[in-house]
Amino acid sequence: MTHFVPLDIATDRCKGCELCIGACPHHVLALDESVVNALGYHPVTLTDPDECTSCVICARVCPDTVFTVYARPKADVS
Ligand code: SF4
Ligand code: SF4
Repeated sequence: MTHFVPLDIATDRCKGCELCIGACPHHVLALDESVVNALGYHPVTLTDPDECTSCVICARVCPDTVFTVYARPKADVS
């Protein structure tokens, strides 16, 4: 069991373009249709933190610098 969350998502900057969703190799990003952000969009959310590998692809493709990615600590083996 882990509590490490590899992504910080600045949801109020997300424009819901879905570029990151298509680019994530582990399919752990989705629009949160239960939320409307300050810009009027459904923002992206991380659906399964345990499956995110901190590969940074989402941060590279996002035009709005929504993501901050943290490396998974080596001691975190869950
Ligand atoms: S860091 Fe990689 S695995 Fe994690 S959400 Fe972004 S693209 Fe997906
Ligand atoms: S690429 Fe950026 S702006 Fe587009 S949905 Fe993903 S987080 Fe939101």
